Amino acid sequence: MVSGLGLRDVTVRYGETTALDGVSLAVERGEVVALLGPSGSGKSTLLRAIAGLEPLVSGAVLWDGADLAAVPTHKRGFGMVFQDGQLFPTMSVGRNVGYGLTHLAKPAQRARVTELLELVGLPGLEHRRPTELSGGQAQRVALARSLAPSPRALLLDEPLSALDPGLRRRLADDLARILRETHTTAVYVTHDPEEAERVADRVVVLTAPTAGRDGAA
Ligand code: ADP
Repeated sequence: MVSGLGLRDVTVRYGETTALDGVSLAVERGEVVALLGPSGSGKSTLLRAIAGLEPLVSGAVLWDGADLAAVPTHKRGFGMVFQDGQLFPTMSVGRNVGYGLTHLAKPAQRARVTELLELVGLPGLEHRRPTELSGGQAQRVALARSLAPSPRALLLDEPLSALDPGLRRRLADDLARILRETHTTAVYVTHDPEEAERVADRVVVLTAPTAGRDGAA
């Protein structure tokens, strides 16, 4: 059996536009794969398909070889991180990070939030408001929030694109370390080849279907 995440001949269309045309990809448990490609090549669509947010015209998304077609987004166990973090603006940093931990007792929630803020290099920032964070800090909090419930895979959509280049490199190195330390299986979308190499074990290039693509390499 194949362990981890699989895509088998996935096709997604938006009306007349084919966004993904028979894409296949395997991501082993604990592996970090960067998905590189120009704007419009279908990178975000691929993440959304994995998460169960886009219906497939054909093909399948699999975990450990089992088809996830009947599993809704919130039960797939995948975390997501977006370009702008999308923190809840009215909640403290601590409540943001603890958002997916309501199944735990309060002391366990607090301990996990403390642990995650340490992991992302922001110890003690529980009581800050998102508006009081820099762009880089906000992305670190978004990463902590997505990792807190121990997702079986993390889907990251250009998480560093809004940051300036120096900060982006530093955070890319930190992200690479954090994903390894937590043995997180991840698909990391970027259009920056250098960032892809910094973060990932393996880089996969996606080209747009109109350019004659036959799937991810
Ligand atoms: P990328 O993330 O690589 O920039 P996307 O996955 O956003 O690419 O888009 C792939 C293709 O699908 C593009 O041609 C885009 O215009 C189209 N597309 C994406 N989202 C939608 C949508 N909601 N409605 C219609 N077309 C879309």
